[in-house]
Amino acid sequence: MSCVHIIGAGLAGLAAAIELSGTDRRICLYEATSQAGGRCRSYHDPVLNREIDNGNHLILKANHHTRDYIQRIGSTAQFHTPQTHYPFIDIKYGYQWELKRPFYLPRLPLIDYIHLLRIGLMGGCVGNYASPYDNLHRRFLAPLCTSILNTPPEQASAMLFARTLRQIIAEKGGAEPLLPLHTLHASLIAPALKRLLDQGCDIYYQQSLKHITLTDNRATELHFSRNVIPLGADDIVILAIPAHGIEKLLPAIPVPQTYHAIVNGHFITDHNQPNGSFIGAVGGALDWVFFKDGLISTTTSAANALADIDQDITATMLWHDVCRITGVRKPLPPYRIVTEKRATYAATPENLKRRPTTQTDYNNVLLAGDYVRNGLPATIEGAIKSGMKAACTVYAI
Ligand SMILES: Cc1cc2nc3c(=O)[nH]c(=O)nc-3n(C[C@H](O)[C@H](O)[C@H](O)COP(=O)(O)OP(=O)(O)OC[C@H]3O[C@@H](n4cnc5c(N)ncnc54)[C@H](O)[C@@H]3O)c2cc1C
Repeated sequence: MSCVHIIGAGLAGLAAAIELSGTDRRICLYEATSQAGGRCRSYHDPVLNREIDNGNHLILKANHHTRDYIQRIGSTAQFHTPQTHYPFIDIKYGYQWELKRPFYLPRLPLIDYIHLLRIGLMGGCVGNYASPYDNLHRRFLAPLCTSILNTPPEQASAMLFARTLRQIIAEKGGAEPLLPLHTLHASLIAPALKRLLDQGCDIYYQQSLKHITLTDNRATELHFSRNVIPLGADDIVILAIPAHGIEKLLPAIPVPQTYHAIVNGHFITDHNQPNGSFIGAVGGALDWVFFKDGLISTTTSAANALADIDQDITATMLWHDVCRITGVRKPLPPYRIVTEKRATYAATPENLKRRPTTQTDYNNVLLAGDYVRNGLPATIEGAIKSGMKAACTVYAI
């Protein structure tokens, strides 16, 4: 029986495996670390003494590939929509506003809506379309661009931003959030692993792919840290590892070159906000505050500057902002700062040109991952879509 070897058990690898499971091919999934999930993972934190996610992850109802994946792994009941609107606060000036149904736009002068329609038409970066001092920029473009593309407006591709925004807003209810009721692992990872094991897939942990032997434009051997796997004539490899890993294994494939960090702060504290609710913010050190099960969690995107600061200082800055947003007046509680330095590639026009396609010049090697060309930003939706596409391409080879 021919085998599909999937390298990397993040969402792209899991989505590819789910798509292929139950077919006439053997599926082997290899993960370098001791757990699946990649950049979307949960673990027990000894300081907080509870399960935490590496970062708050927002899924939108317009993310159809993700919803399909969730349905297929039987996890729909693990998600909820705690609120349909997006409240924002300007920490510096104290101003508050909401993005809400039906169009999720802030109240702006007519001329700003006209500027909004122009975004993406002339290419370039989001920041070229509005001055940083305009409300259009401060209350809409900057927070959304930074959150959706993990890239500040002055660097972010206007085309990708405009296309993503259109996809979200064009669909009725598409902008509404879908949040995990518990952890990312419980909602997106564990049910997929269970399904794969039930379907007879082989899953190997702590198997890091170090080298691929290539003969006549085909992969013929996979060299892992512990062993070498020879490939059969009909075997196919799906590389579902991040772009910087591809650069080491197959340097001839162009990949995005620069990244942005995301910093999350988790603070143990009582709060009286509804479970799962969240608030967006501008003018401070954080972009979002999430309230869940006795935990206040913050997210700062495009956070390369914050990522290099001492964690105690980061925690103090984030907690200071949390207090201003919520009105809580308490000293810094027990916390955990999680810094993902290469959270996603920077969605600059230059990097977008370097996104590779699913099919490579090597006949039996396919790519999957949020950096692969798929019309979407580096998100859960992008990762799952690329995994599903790689799985479907297996049949075209
Ligand atoms: C803090 C944070 C917050 C985020 N917030 C959001 C959000 O709100 N909404 C959203 O949609 N997206 C969000 N994202 C982005 C989203 O998490 C990623 O786009 C997605 O998880 C990427 O999945 P992937 O499978 O492409 O890559 P990864 O998750 O990186 O998976 C790759 C896997 O391959 C493994 N691997 C690497 N090298 C090897 C090797 N040589 N051999 C074997 N295995 C290997 C890795 O260990 C990893 O498990 C966020 C990301 C971060 C970090």
